[in-house]
Amino acid sequence: MDLAELTAGIAAAMAGAKDRGQVASYIPELAKVDPAQFGIAIATADGGLFTGGNADTGFTIQSISKVFALTLALGKVGDQLWERVGREPSGNAFNSITQLEYEHGIPRNPFINAGAIVVADVNLGGHQPRVAIGEMLRFIRYLSGDDSIRVNQAVAASETTTGHRNMALAHYMSAFGNIRHPVDLVLGTYFHQCAIEMNCRQLALAGRYLMLDGHHPEGGRVVSPRRARRINALMLTCGHYDASGDFAFRVGIPGKSGVGGGILAIVPGRASIAVWSPGLNDSGNSHLGTLALEELAQRTGWSVFSPA
Ligand code: GLU
Repeated sequence: MDLAELTAGIAAAMAGAKDRGQVASYIPELAKVDPAQFGIAIATADGGLFTGGNADTGFTIQSISKVFALTLALGKVGDQLWERVGREPSGNAFNSITQLEYEHGIPRNPFINAGAIVVADVNLGGHQPRVAIGEMLRFIRYLSGDDSIRVNQAVAASETTTGHRNMALAHYMSAFGNIRHPVDLVLGTYFHQCAIEMNCRQLALAGRYLMLDGHHPEGGRVVSPRRARRINALMLTCGHYDASGDFAFRVGIPGKSGVGGGILAIVPGRASIAVWSPGLNDSGNSHLGTLALEELAQRTGWSVFSPA
């Protein structure tokens, strides 16, 4: 199979798509992004990199940051994290507060907002948000081998002034004792990690440790094989909000999406894929990004459910 041709073909098909979904508008700065964009990058286990469309245009990774934040938090507190965050799909909206009440402030999983806010609390570790964000940027730059990755300050500021639901979630969990730092510091960390700006090329490179069973492609180990497999399992079951089941059904690859329109998808042992198109479908996942991954999985046989 010619991956260069396939990548170019998918990018061309998506460039001409009429229905592109709706750009997220609840974060005002995101509403300004031009929906007529699509990018794709595929990093393969044998060191290949295939790109198409707007693969070099930056976008804020939003909820995709939750994968990197989870990896860091597990490095800090190990399995103790699971005393404060669950591992089940939520079946609720990503910013839902209702489940927290009857589950005593323990979020369902680390990929919904409440769970990610607890993870941000762990990553703060008694420091100021800029220290935690600096650590996350260093981690992502090391994973992607690219020192130019930065926070988009306009998007971070936009969410800081409008993120009332996230503030409510953080305060609510504080009331249960599941947030240990001052809420504004935790949210400062969370909003800035969501506003990290990357392009598809950088994101596909950053995800390689999850395709390589925890190894960094340049040598050394980022996480143990068991941890890499568990993070992939969470991506498959919880990575697409309450449409995670549908994504597994249609694409069959662990993935994490963000409201900026990006998706990071991991084919263990084979590929780390980033797609981006800012228009979202009804479940809040990139409309064209999902279609592109569905097409790619079909053409390559990369569903994790296909026989090797
Ligand atoms: N920063 C966004 C929020 O908390 C991230 C949401 C997402 O990408 O799912 O609302």
